Amino acid sequence: MIQKDIIIIGAGPAGCTAAIYASRSGFDCALIGGSVPGGQLLYTNSIENFPGATGAPSGFELIDRIHKQTAQLGIEIIRDNADRLELDKPPYVATLAGGQQYCAPIVIVATGANARWLGLASEEKFRGHGVSSCATCDGFFQKGRDVCVIGGGNTALEDAIFLTKFVNKVYLVHRRYEFRADEILVAAAKANPKIELALDSVPVEFTGADALDGLKVKNIKTGAERTLACSGAFVAIGTIPNINLVKGQLELDTENYIRADAHCRTSKDGVFAAGDVMDPYYRQAVIAAASGARAAIAAGHYLQNLASRCPAKQP
Ligand code: NAP
Repeated sequence: MIQKDIIIIGAGPAGCTAAIYASRSGFDCALIGGSVPGGQLLYTNSIENFPGATGAPSGFELIDRIHKQTAQLGIEIIRDNADRLELDKPPYVATLAGGQQYCAPIVIVATGANARWLGLASEEKFRGHGVSSCATCDGFFQKGRDVCVIGGGNTALEDAIFLTKFVNKVYLVHRRYEFRADEILVAAAKANPKIELALDSVPVEFTGADALDGLKVKNIKTGAERTLACSGAFVAIGTIPNINLVKGQLELDTENYIRADAHCRTSKDGVFAAGDVMDPYYRQAVIAAASGARAAIAAGHYLQNLASRCPAKQP
């Protein structure tokens, strides 16, 4: 069992930033990154909205730079999956797939979230090549073109409205007639001349040879199929937080995100959460990074308080 001050699980922008802040404050961290560290950034085409990341790096390049920065600070990213996290009482214990165990009085959970996808084979084919889950990140590349947005929640409606700033036309494809999104967004979308609604419609297939050229949809009431010509499609049907390690141990919200306060404190003393695993709303790398910094600073204060309440025994 390897003893640390802080165990950080996840090496995306939240976990890495937490590690950078914690290690610069003198804490000894175990940064457990999984077998392929980096999270959702690994699958993001191009990043133009992360301050300082000039030259539109790919998500892969950006997370690679962040990983190099952690390495320069002497922080090793442990390339193994955490299989188990015991949060009954401190010290908390993380057990890796390879069997190694780490224990610490503090854990920062930064396991992220994954976009919910439709699950079509053609979606997989065009992911990162026309099909995206982030209009904020990839919308600009569709300037002047026609695109589809899939979903009927606030994200889909906001994405559709946002995209009309650059694109020629947005087909808003939703599987029901009624929207789940707030009425104000629905009204704005309906009033927008660049948005055409495709309601009661489920995506059947993304089409195209090498590049995406359309989305075939099926009307669930009539059974009629048609193809909406588009060069980009944004799937906005929600996200799934990665909470397997903490399920049943930490309080979650109604959508299974970890409940955490403004200082990233969870329902358990000494356990903090950062990034998309506790944020169903913003889902941006820069915001995940910022919450990693907050978690590390709050964790540092917590650890200092612990030390002053339980001073080390004198020899
Ligand atoms: P969401 O509210 O869960 O909506 C997901 C949408 O995708 C729903 O319309 C759902 O259809 C549809 N959907 C789900 N699975 C599907 C599938 N397999 N095929 C086709 N359609 C599918 O997710 P979200 O829009 O990402 O929002 C997440 C949270 O963030 C919500 O609490 C939301 O209010 C919040 N948010 C708020 C704002 C804001 O207030 N400005 C902005 C963004 C997000 P059904 O409706 O038929 O279930």
